[in-house]
Amino acid sequence: MTDRTALSPAQQAAVDQVERYSAHNYLPLPVVIESGQGAWVTDVDGNRYLDFLAAYSAVNFGHGNPELLAVAHAQLDTLTLTSRAFFSAPFGPFVQGLAELCRKDMVLTMNTGVEAVESGIKVARKWGYEVKGVRPGRANIIVMEGNFHGRTTTVVSFSDDRDAREDFGPYTPGFRRVRYGDAAAIAEAIDADTVAVLLEPIQGEAGIIIPPAGYLQAVRDLCTENRVLMIADEIQSGLGRSGATFYCDVEGVVPDMYLLGKALGGGIMPVSAVVANADILGVLRPGQHGSTFGGNPLACAIGLAVVDLLKTGVMQERSRVLGARLADGLRPLIGNGLLEVRGAGLWVGIDVDPELCTGRELCYLLMRHGILAKDTHGKTVRLAPPLVVTEEDIDQAVATIAECLAEARASLHGRPA
Ligand SMILES: *Cc1c(COP(=O)(O)O)cnc(C)c1O
Repeated sequence: MTDRTALSPAQQAAVDQVERYSAHNYLPLPVVIESGQGAWVTDVDGNRYLDFLAAYSAVNFGHGNPELLAVAHAQLDTLTLTSRAFFSAPFGPFVQGLAELCRKDMVLTMNTGVEAVESGIKVARKWGYEVKGVRPGRANIIVMEGNFHGRTTTVVSFSDDRDAREDFGPYTPGFRRVRYGDAAAIAEAIDADTVAVLLEPIQGEAGIIIPPAGYLQAVRDLCTENRVLMIADEIQSGLGRSGATFYCDVEGVVPDMYLLGKALGGGIMPVSAVVANADILGVLRPGQHGSTFGGNPLACAIGLAVVDLLKTGVMQERSRVLGARLADGLRPLIGNGLLEVRGAGLWVGIDVDPELCTGRELCYLLMRHGILAKDTHGKTVRLAPPLVVTEEDIDQAVATIAECLAEARASLHGRPA
């Protein structure tokens, strides 16, 4: 199987234009989407697909979510940008709402996920020098093998993904990478200059890797004992995706700092935040950090609507119930095309039997059968539809995945699929 499919003239033209004028920093599936509604998107030829990627969980609450759109439309007509040089009416309600949702004191507003990560790193270092008393210039942060925290120069400095990192040096020092899921490795890496442990409670890009039960609690205990900040990057795992507001909640663990993004913008705007108590975020004083667009009125209005949506618990419940339905539906395929099914909430990773096809090949088949999903690391396909997906959609997706695996097996045996 190659990366070529027969495209309609309309889709081919759109693909060619992108190939010609966009940097080639992605390898998209050849489908050109025109509109979206709930868990469904429609391409420029009118074909409909179930969106099982949901923009890497940025669209947790569905395409064109009516409540979020209404708020966005109203704010668009009122005020969109002031900069933080002044106060804006939506800013206060958003930071209070998000702080309360997280049960923390304070919020630092940014735009993209990686900016939240960068900001968290800066805050942790400053906290280390000012509060913990780390020697000047010596702060270190412990990070995980297989991590994904974004694409800036500092953040790729501590990635171990070759594509993400190679030829982008010189690299920012001050990071120590240890095995994910291994608390003893963290204990060994911590020293007097350690200011933070930064981790994804579930590693999304690495293939929806769920750490062993008790791991997050062990990290919490180590951080407390050693006066080190536990920073949970819940940019993908949080805001309902993993069956609770945060995956840390599932494990009953409270980190010192949440990093949030993706779904915080309701699939409309990039909105990100660092959330922590005042003894940590309070180290920032005027002029020491900022962002022209961070905390803009449009972002705040949408972000507050997202917070209000999450306060009801409805999305988290859907994630739990529908996620279990999806995983239960797929489990019978283990040994019959799939090697493994794992997940938390509506966030399910399936490992495809490499004898049959690659993850990407399965994504091609799924696309032809009306489901959009994304592979990662060769054999894994992550399934993460918007949380507004219906039971019927889930059942249809399970049936389609089974069909596609059967088709892959048939073509393997040289029979026409
Ligand atoms: C997507 C992601 C980021 C980066 O967010 P961007 O908005 O793409 O900068 C950081 N951490 C995790 C866990 C993510 O999934």
